[in-house]
Amino acid sequence: MSSPNLLYDAIAIDGPAASGKSTVARLLAERLNLIMVNSGEMYRAVTLAVMQHGVNPCDPITVADLVKTINLCCIVENGGSQILLDGEYPGSALRSDNVNAAVSAVAAVPEVRHLLVALQRGLLQHGDLVMEGRDIGSIVFPNTPYKIYIEASEEIRRQRRAAEGQTDSVGERDRQDSARKTSPLVVPDGAEVIDSSQMGIEEVVKTALGVLETRGWFDRESERNLV
Ligand code: C5P
Repeated sequence: MSSPNLLYDAIAIDGPAASGKSTVARLLAERLNLIMVNSGEMYRAVTLAVMQHGVNPCDPITVADLVKTINLCCIVENGGSQILLDGEYPGSALRSDNVNAAVSAVAAVPEVRHLLVALQRGLLQHGDLVMEGRDIGSIVFPNTPYKIYIEASEEIRRQRRAAEGQTDSVGERDRQDSARKTSPLVVPDGAEVIDSSQMGIEEVVKTALGVLETRGWFDRESERNLV
């Protein structure tokens, strides 16, 4: 179990930008009836607030001050978590080119991470979940045995983003995400690494399901019934 105090378990999916982790997490959530949590959207929502307030994303002190005042909450509906900024769904604004360019600087601020990690851990009270991001297996749920790290070559990831019509310097974001002091992007201890460069999405999902089976995900129901 992820935590001895909670009934529910978390599957942690980490990896660099455009490695395919959101799609894999979504498909696992559908097939295993889990709550799907895209933690990147939370960092994007804070970045949107930073921009709406005219704060320089590269000024960590002012970003940290702003974070104390913003109204951010996370609800679970329709099998997934949804982020609300000032009571509203931010929608496609989270994926704008401006947010893409600024999010890694904002995500490096310790006060931002502190706030969001607490929100992310709180979601486990709603049920079993699959959460994808950069520090899920290393920081958010370090005790879960269900850790997967999905990677792909930078060129393949760049092509995937371009095919989605997005301007996104995935390599630059990865460098910033890996180099930051607080909770950098790493392969978490005990994570199974899947290289998706030459795989279709179904193959990645099948491999991930195999990892979960080996680690006992499907034995949990019977174990729970014995408690
Ligand atoms: O997953 P996505 O690419 O939408 O994440 C956007 C950015 O949010 C990442 O580049 C990273 O800077 C930050 N992030 C993070 N930790 C997470 C999830 C996302 O630092 N768990």
